[in-house]
Amino acid sequence: MTATTYLQWVADGQPWKPATPVADLRDTLQRHGFTVYVLGDESHQKAQPPEDHVPYSHTPWPGKQPYPYVLAMDVMPNGDLSLDKLGAQLVKDKNAGVSGVHGLKYLNWTDSNGNCWHESWQPKHARESSDDRGHLHLSWRTDFVTSTSAAGYDPVARVKGIDVALTDEEWASLQIAAYRIKAIQDNTPTIVYGVNARTKKPFHATEPNELAVALAAQAKAIEDLKNAGTSVVLDPATLKAALLDPQVLAALGAATAGALAEYHLSKE
Ligand SMILES: [Zn+2]
Repeated sequence: MTATTYLQWVADGQPWKPATPVADLRDTLQRHGFTVYVLGDESHQKAQPPEDHVPYSHTPWPGKQPYPYVLAMDVMPNGDLSLDKLGAQLVKDKNAGVSGVHGLKYLNWTDSNGNCWHESWQPKHARESSDDRGHLHLSWRTDFVTSTSAAGYDPVARVKGIDVALTDEEWASLQIAAYRIKAIQDNTPTIVYGVNARTKKPFHATEPNELAVALAAQAKAIEDLKNAGTSVVLDPATLKAALLDPQVLAALGAATAGALAEYHLSKE
């Protein structure tokens, strides 16, 4: 069923989920220390008319309310940046056509002079006075409900000038590097390229982890030497010192380090 009132929503078991740009920007802002609320409290839920903090909003735009998605968020003033600066950046980016905020419907925010604004783009940019103070309210367009356009958009980094506007290709390269590093850390023989966090699409690719493969071959060679009873001339002190270096140990991985440790390293 599609609930359109509070009572119908309660009867339906109170389902809800954040719209994709709401979830993406919420995650980004949470990383910067902000508390972000999506589903409204009881006063929002029972409000007449119900607005965008509930999945049965009566104020969707430009399409119908995509039940049970919630298309609004409140950002509280406890993050790495003051809300007047964050609000100003969102307005600037929306007006400049930055894709991360293409889906923004309106914003309630208070500027650095203490003026509170209801700033909307439905579709034309309009600004009027508001009394929705104390937090930043964002409402999103219904046609962006599952859009990934806000993934990777970081208004805090943009204010601080530390945003590196990566192309999709550069973003993919970074993700691939992250999957490689993970495979090296875990010493897994195969690198599995999972999902691109920006596009949410899988890479559909795997690759051998050459380091893990080489280390496994080395461990096997040492094991074979040991089993063959061959006398190998090594400087035990040097070898032991090298292997006890925590960075070397981490790079070699548990299996290889274990095999080497077994190889009479204590015999000096
Ligand atoms: Zn709100």
